[in-house]
Amino acid sequence: MAETKGMSAAQRVADIRQHIVKAQESPLAARSVTLLAASKSQPREAIAEAYAAGIRDFGENRVQEAAAKWGAIRADFPDIRLHLIGPLQTNKLREAVALFDVIQTVDREKLALGLAAEMRRQGRALPCYIQVNTGEEPQKAGVPPALAPAFIRSCRAAGLEVAGLMCVPPAGQHAAPHFALLARLAQAQGVAGLSMGMSGDYETAVRLGATCIRLGRTLFGGRP
Ligand SMILES: *Cc1c(COP(=O)(O)O)cnc(C)c1O
Repeated sequence: MAETKGMSAAQRVADIRQHIVKAQESPLAARSVTLLAASKSQPREAIAEAYAAGIRDFGENRVQEAAAKWGAIRADFPDIRLHLIGPLQTNKLREAVALFDVIQTVDREKLALGLAAEMRRQGRALPCYIQVNTGEEPQKAGVPPALAPAFIRSCRAAGLEVAGLMCVPPAGQHAAPHFALLARLAQAQGVAGLSMGMSGDYETAVRLGATCIRLGRTLFGGRP
């Protein structure tokens, strides 16, 4: 990860965008890559700086923290898209569907059915990503790769818009095989979006076709 402390948010974003453009020289890269700011535990000032630097997509991990934080400041950033990038419990569906614009962590039948029902109830059809546990780690969220095709079909049958696949590769492993696996799954299922790549590996993710990279530390210059 590049050393970004001491740089302004605008400099950091410009620096990241340069790295993205370079990685887009890869033949597998997507033409357009959304730079999502993973803003967990970041205060309003940091969010405002990222916004001023052109960021319009923000990701939060916890429904409760996001509701408390963004409820008060959302009106100041009217044209942002708020993504849920952490686990969603079925008892938080109502709040999540009301607050978020994209749900990136759909990974089980009960959640998919609950989301579809709640979206109909609120009249809000949110794009969803299916989280895939590419490393098949027992403690990690996500559907196992082998079950992903059937799960994607059942999400679509339930009425969800499957906009993409999302993964968080195992810590301490090379991320590239995980990104490649996610890209293959998406292509085989006709899914357009690929949310993959974080501060340490986003260039690799872009080279392998990411359409959305989720950056925390390298974008905000650290985490409080
Ligand atoms: C925190 C987080 C990120 C960003 O991580 P960094 O390493 O700080 O860039 C991305 N995705 C998810 C799901 C996260 O929880």
